[in-house]
Amino acid sequence: MPMIRALQLLADRQVELIERAPPPPPGADEVQLRVRAVGLNHIDVWGFRGMAFAKRLYPLSVGAEAACEVIATGPGVTHVQPGDHVVPYAALTCGTCPACQRGRDNLCENVGGVRGFHIDGFAQDITNHPARLLVKIPDGVDMRDAACVAVAYGTVEHMLFDNAQLEPEEWVLVHAGGSGIGSIAIRIAKALGCTVITTVGSDEKAEKARALGADHVINYRTERFEGVVRKLTRKKGVDVVFEHTGADTWAGSLLSMRRGGRLVTCGATSGPVGSLNLMQLFQQQYRIIGSFGAPLSALGRALDRIGSGVRPVIDTEYGLADFQAGIARLEGRDVFGKLLVTL
Ligand SMILES: [Zn+2]
Repeated sequence: MPMIRALQLLADRQVELIERAPPPPPGADEVQLRVRAVGLNHIDVWGFRGMAFAKRLYPLSVGAEAACEVIATGPGVTHVQPGDHVVPYAALTCGTCPACQRGRDNLCENVGGVRGFHIDGFAQDITNHPARLLVKIPDGVDMRDAACVAVAYGTVEHMLFDNAQLEPEEWVLVHAGGSGIGSIAIRIAKALGCTVITTVGSDEKAEKARALGADHVINYRTERFEGVVRKLTRKKGVDVVFEHTGADTWAGSLLSMRRGGRLVTCGATSGPVGSLNLMQLFQQQYRIIGSFGAPLSALGRALDRIGSGVRPVIDTEYGLADFQAGIARLEGRDVFGKLLVTL
């Protein structure tokens, strides 16, 4: 078999496009995938920079989020066949612990690592993956859109519905509306019939956020967002806050909620420490929900939602060799929507 291309992390901040031998034929309950597109996320930035506590061995291929075509199936695989388009789950969950059994895959007690971060990832032409950890891409859904599902779109789906239980006509505050997940959250909430307030860091992004459907856009560099939110909601506050920016916005996010509001968070890009006034927490009856990743079921719903027209926003597509340019733009927050690497 000819060699395949793989984008490998050789050391912290050192990525190289290499040629390597293809993986062996798929084993029992395994499939072989041809990777078509890889979505970039903040986990790739952390992986690229290196994290002292992450247990991993170099070299490893980067890329946690992908859309692929099945090219071969191992013994015992019946639910997918060659030619199927699939989204592989990023984490190698065990499938047998109580959380996995209950369909709470992202609470798995025995995760064997996240692909592209702890273990070999998807930025390579061909790779093998457990058949159990695949979600079929419905007909009519573009591979590039599907490549935004395993991490970004799935995370948003899980945050808004499983966790925040967002309902039509509610008010939502979405932070960093230009980010990969922020832009998806705006589209989903608008499609549901919610009123969306979003924060952005530049006037240029404000225009784009309005074009996406956001009802109110706040440039957080020039205005205190919590004051604007209170004004817009006639001092009531929003029903749901979509948090992922952390330290810079945390206090204001809590002040932006109505009594009984829900804050759901999956990130802390501006810093991990925020304070909490416990009086405010119980008197206002807030619900604060941490969210990380998504169960397989949320990925399936995300793909169906894309099929119904609620597509992710794709900023730029890169070739394999330009991965690092994409990482630099993510680090600098110089992006509106998702960045992809297509193979
Ligand atoms: Zn498990």
